Amino acid sequence: MPRRVDLRSDTVTQPTDAMREAMSKAVVGDVGYDEDPTINELERRFAGIVGKESAIFVPSGVMANQIAVRVLTSPGDVIVAGRSQHVVSFEMGASARNSSVQFALIDDAKGILRADEVLDVIDAEHDHQPHVAIVAIENTHMLSGGTPWELDDVNALKRAIGSLPLHLDGARLFNASVATGISASDLSAPATTVTACLSKGLGAPVGSLLAGPTDVMHRASIERKRLGGTMRQAGFLAAAGIVALETMIERLGDDHVRARVLAEEFAKAFPESSYDPSSCRTNIVAFDHPRARDIVEELSSKGVLGGTVAPRRVRFVTHLGVNDDDVDFVSDILAHL
Ligand SMILES: *Cc1c(COP(=O)(O)O)cnc(C)c1O
Repeated sequence: MPRRVDLRSDTVTQPTDAMREAMSKAVVGDVGYDEDPTINELERRFAGIVGKESAIFVPSGVMANQIAVRVLTSPGDVIVAGRSQHVVSFEMGASARNSSVQFALIDDAKGILRADEVLDVIDAEHDHQPHVAIVAIENTHMLSGGTPWELDDVNALKRAIGSLPLHLDGARLFNASVATGISASDLSAPATTVTACLSKGLGAPVGSLLAGPTDVMHRASIERKRLGGTMRQAGFLAAAGIVALETMIERLGDDHVRARVLAEEFAKAFPESSYDPSSCRTNIVAFDHPRARDIVEELSSKGVLGGTVAPRRVRFVTHLGVNDDDVDFVSDILAHL
C-alpha cells in the first residue's frame, strides 16, 4: 500500500496498548444506577484537574457543549461566541435545535474574543435587545490554527462580564495548557463550565467530560439523560480515558513541535497564502488559500491527508499517530510540489 500520513484530525488515533489493557480489566457497572466505579473515578479525576466541584462523562464533545447550553440558558436567550467556534459552526445548529437559543457572533479570527466587543452585545440588553445568558469561548481555538488563550486574556474577559457565566469549550484544553505552561485548572478558573475531549490529542477512543459547580452538574446529568447520553457499562471507555489523563497530556508537546515543523514547510510551499508559521503554537496548521480544496486533493493523491474547515481554509493536524518520520515524508512532498 502506498504510504499515507493522516493529518485530517487528531480524532483519527488508535487507542494505545495501555488503554486496551485498562479497558480489558475495567470494573464496570450500570451508570443509570450510578454504579460504574471507573466512570466515577474518571469524573472525579477530571474535576480535580480542572479545579471544579463535579464532572460528568459524556459520549462526545458536542454533547458536552450542548448540555452546558441547556443548563445555562433559557429559550430565546443569546450566547455570545466567536463566529467560527465549534458550538456555533460545527454542531449542525444543535444549540438552536436543542435549546432554542441564538448566537451573537464576535470576530474570532485570531482565536480570542475582545472583551469590549463582548460587552457591547451584553450592554445592548438596555437597548431593547435579547438577554445574554452566557459567553462561550474555545481554548485552544481550532479554526484560527489551534490558538491557545493567554491566561490574562481569559481573566480579563471574565472580569469584564462579571457574574455572567462563561462556558469554556476545552476540547483541546490540554494542548492549551502544554503550549502556555499554565495549568488546566488556572485556565478553567474563570469559567463556570469547562469541557475536554479524551478522543482527540489524548488518544482515547471515545468520550468527553463536562465539569462545573455541583448544582449545575446535577442538572447537567439530567440533561445528559434527556439527550440520550447516559450510557450503561461505559466504564470500559472511561478506563481508556483515565489512562489518557494520566499519561497522554505531557506528550502533546511532541505534536506541537511536529506541527510547527510542518507549518514552516507549508509556509514555504504556499508563499502566496502569507501564512505565518509562528502562529502555529499547538497541533494545528490552518491557513487561507484561494485553491484550498485543490491543495487538499493534490496532497491527498500523494499520501498526505488533510481537510478544509471553511471554503478557502485548509487544515492539517498532528497527533499520536504521526511521528518524526511522517513529518519528514510530508516535508519532502511539500518541498517538491
Ligand atoms: C471536536 C470538537 C468538539 C466536539 O467534539 P466531538 O467529540 O467530535 O463531538 C467541540 N469543540 C471543539 C473545539 C472541537 O474541536
